Amino acid sequence: MDTIKENVKQLLSEIPGGVDIVAAAKTRSSDEILQAIDGGLKIIGQNYVQEALKIIEDIGHQVRWHFIGHLQKNKIKYVVPVFDMIETVDSMTLATQINKHAIKHNKTMHILIEINSGREPQKFGVFPEDAYNLIKEIKALSNLKIMGLMTMGKMVDDTQEIRKCFKETKTLFDEINALNIEGVEMKCLSMGMSDSYTIAIEEGANVVRIGTKIFGPRSY
Ligand SMILES: *Cc1c(COP(=O)(O)O)cnc(C)c1O
Repeated sequence: MDTIKENVKQLLSEIPGGVDIVAAAKTRSSDEILQAIDGGLKIIGQNYVQEALKIIEDIGHQVRWHFIGHLQKNKIKYVVPVFDMIETVDSMTLATQINKHAIKHNKTMHILIEINSGREPQKFGVFPEDAYNLIKEIKALSNLKIMGLMTMGKMVDDTQEIRKCFKETKTLFDEINALNIEGVEMKCLSMGMSDSYTIAIEEGANVVRIGTKIFGPRSY
């Protein structure tokens, strides 16, 4: 009956201190998410704006909300006022639009830069070698604050390939951090999902996004 809560407690007991769990809650009901919160989770990730707005209205701001999906231009205006962080910023165009709405809401929007660490052309995210220039551009926007990096890694079964993606993203994270860019805080390194969070933590992630392992298989 309390499987979700038990799953969360198990996860919290095995994950090292200093690593935050984002419950990747796409397609899950408010009831399911509330069970995860009851288990001790404090950050909920959402991918789909329509779905998220309803859920956030139900559950409110007893937890923090991270947007972890691909953000379409026409949905930015809904996301900015209710989310605490947008993890998937990968272009100046998107950043500029988010900033515009953040100004409107008199809010500093915390964002992560999404890195396409697998260098897969069809995937979202900026290539590692282009991240620094993008960050330099984005940091000029008044109402955005870059808080770190996010990556999905390659969607493959080969754990060595996945580890390579995480390693490269961590190296980039450390390099950017060492530059001490004014207004940029390299605090969050978000990588790893149900199948890969152990590897991600070994490679330096301090935020992991976990869905299936908390809620069970998705039914879509
Ligand atoms: C769904 C999702 C996850 C979690 O995936 P699971 O395999 O269910 O743990 C992590 N990150 C993003 C961006 C997602 O969309």
